[in-house]
Amino acid sequence: MKTIQALLIAISYILFIASPFAVSAGEFDWPLARITDKIYAIYGPFDLPNPQNRGFRNTAVIVLTTDGVVLLDPGGSAWAGEKIVERLKSLTDMPVVAVFNSHAHGDHWLGNEGVKNAYPAAVIYGHPNMKTKVEGAEGERWLKLINRATEGKANGKKVVAPDKPVNDGDVIDIGDTEFRIYHTGPAHTDNDISIEIVGEDALFTGDVVRNQFLGMMEEDASFKGNIAAIDSMLEKSFSHYIPAHGHAGGAEILNEYRAYLVTLKGAVKQLYDEGLADFEMKPEVVKVLQEYQQWPGFDIRIGPHISRVYLEIEAEEF
Ligand SMILES: [Zn+2]
Repeated sequence: MKTIQALLIAISYILFIASPFAVSAGEFDWPLARITDKIYAIYGPFDLPNPQNRGFRNTAVIVLTTDGVVLLDPGGSAWAGEKIVERLKSLTDMPVVAVFNSHAHGDHWLGNEGVKNAYPAAVIYGHPNMKTKVEGAEGERWLKLINRATEGKANGKKVVAPDKPVNDGDVIDIGDTEFRIYHTGPAHTDNDISIEIVGEDALFTGDVVRNQFLGMMEEDASFKGNIAAIDSMLEKSFSHYIPAHGHAGGAEILNEYRAYLVTLKGAVKQLYDEGLADFEMKPEVVKVLQEYQQWPGFDIRIGPHISRVYLEIEAEEF
């Protein structure tokens, strides 16, 4: 029975994967994808923010509760947030009552502004470090960056930070649904939360997991912590893992992204031990990571990833 269930889930994901990402100039025509009866996703494109995607480039998640709609990462621009809210009307007449932001990178929270324009009473949740960063210089930096990259088409007017902090172990009750928060320390950033939709056997991973896509790892990232965070997610064994970029699926998505991180760290460690500097080892590391070279983002991210892993290994040695 369990096998048949897993097979049906796998087939439904393959059907979604087969449908191409629709992109046309400045229109929000990315379709709604059903994950369970209560959970839907809108899968954004992998491109960097540009005038065509107007800042929408993440996986936005919609959860239907008896009190109203809860959004997880409502897009990377005010425009995206507004369009997601419009799209909801084909699912329900209920208002948006809450939003969770997975971390402080702008493609995951700039949509808050669009949601609040339509539903000022919606309560926004994020990790305490995320709230501090977005309320500080980081918030303004992201707003300007995305407005510039989209040539103003993001429609961003102001920073809308989380109203309430949430942290590891918190459970937020909204209507008939519980949202359980996990934070295992620095991973993709120092402010990641992953969100379990209790009763649906589903976990929104944030950027701790991406499905065949590489994104930023900056100063507050920890490759070691990211691997540990994935292990913790795998231990809980959910049927549906929803990454913050790319399609939802089963544990195979986590295992694949984990394998990338482990292989990268192993390759850098070996060459570090041989006395190579980070810029000297890039061609060899790229060779070892051959099977990941087709992932969008590989070409622009691999250099910075090597540098960050190198610094992490250096710090671990002393
Ligand atoms: Zn991120």
